[in-house]
Amino acid sequence: MKILVINAGSSSLKYQLIDMKDNSRLAIGICERIGTSGRFKHTTSDGRVYDAQIPMPNHNVAFHQMLDTLLKGEYSVISDISEINAIGHRIVNGGEKFSKSVLVDDQVLKDFGEVINFAPLHNPPAMVCIDACLEMFDSKVPNVLVFETAFHQTMPPKAYLFGVEYKYYEKYKVRRYGAHGTSHRYVGNRCAEIMNKDIKDLKIVTCHIGNGSSLAAIKNGVCIDTSMGFTPLAGVMMGTRSGTIDPSVVTFLMDKENLSPSEMEDMLNKRSGLLGISGISSDSRDLEAAIAKDDAKMAHLALGVMNYQIKSYVGAYVAAMNGIDALVFTAGIGENSDRTRRQVCEDMDYLGIKIDDKVNRSHIRDTELEITAPGARVRTFIIPTNEELMIALDTKRIVESL
Ligand code: AMP
Repeated sequence: MKILVINAGSSSLKYQLIDMKDNSRLAIGICERIGTSGRFKHTTSDGRVYDAQIPMPNHNVAFHQMLDTLLKGEYSVISDISEINAIGHRIVNGGEKFSKSVLVDDQVLKDFGEVINFAPLHNPPAMVCIDACLEMFDSKVPNVLVFETAFHQTMPPKAYLFGVEYKYYEKYKVRRYGAHGTSHRYVGNRCAEIMNKDIKDLKIVTCHIGNGSSLAAIKNGVCIDTSMGFTPLAGVMMGTRSGTIDPSVVTFLMDKENLSPSEMEDMLNKRSGLLGISGISSDSRDLEAAIAKDDAKMAHLALGVMNYQIKSYVGAYVAAMNGIDALVFTAGIGENSDRTRRQVCEDMDYLGIKIDDKVNRSHIRDTELEITAPGARVRTFIIPTNEELMIALDTKRIVESL
């Protein structure tokens, strides 16, 4: 079975064609800068790379660019569209309608239409890709929707409600939805597998720390809390996003700086976080490089704030779960920054968390590694996330159950 995984972003379309025989990737690609300059990069498993500037005015054009490249010419990996047996779509927000991955049918499309505005930059382009698949593929080829929010739907009301008038939850469904659910689910399950334990017997905190960051408290296999909120702006400070701040700061700054709601939103999403504090970069690699050169007090400060906030969430989730068995780091920073892992885990021995500094520094990119210090009660892991594989596995499971 070959599954096409499609991940539509606001101005991008990422994809992978996965052979479920051995979960291997046949091709991986990205259409970037859709609607502006357009860049297309496609890599096949045998190393052929097509990298070109191609104008793609919208997601439909990008979709056809992807499909044509998979099927035809010197970068193709299949010769007929019928070789694709199913399609898995990553969906950023499914609201309260979707608590698990689902097979697309008329009712699902109607329900998805009702929550499309919950992720105004991401859900509409995903819908364009679903429509394109329904048009291009045989009607028997299943489309499956995998929601980033679904894993977090097990949160109890005390974790997902905000302290505002309840009528806004009833009227607009304003609540915490979380994000990165596919990643938290994947690394949580991998963690249990590595520990050779049933996830139902474990308390795990997963830290997905990348350009966007979130933590999840996974107790007995289900998510009981997560740091992102109504939108992916909440929680820990990120590359350019503020994370959770005192809401009064928003109205105070709007008033003082004469900012409109969209200007304020822009500032919180695009000019805050690591970039906003350091004034140097949103990329933790640049900040770590600046610190290594010993010339960046602000880089030090920015990373310190972010790492402290991650640590605070870990502590909060240990309290929420009444304990912790395992701590997992994943995503760009979680997997690759030994500094972030060290700063998050230092002075946590009271909770049983202690990592081995030398092992922590020895991590090789894209590999799983346990970094627990000898004798520590809580086990700490680096587990590279694989959201696309998780989407493909969900799709396969649903297709096989038909
Ligand atoms: P993601 O959103 O998961 O793709 O993560 C991307 C982020 O990971 C980048 O913006 C970098 O800040 C961070 N990153 C990637 N590699 C490293 C590294 N070797 N050291 C520190 N941070 C890294």
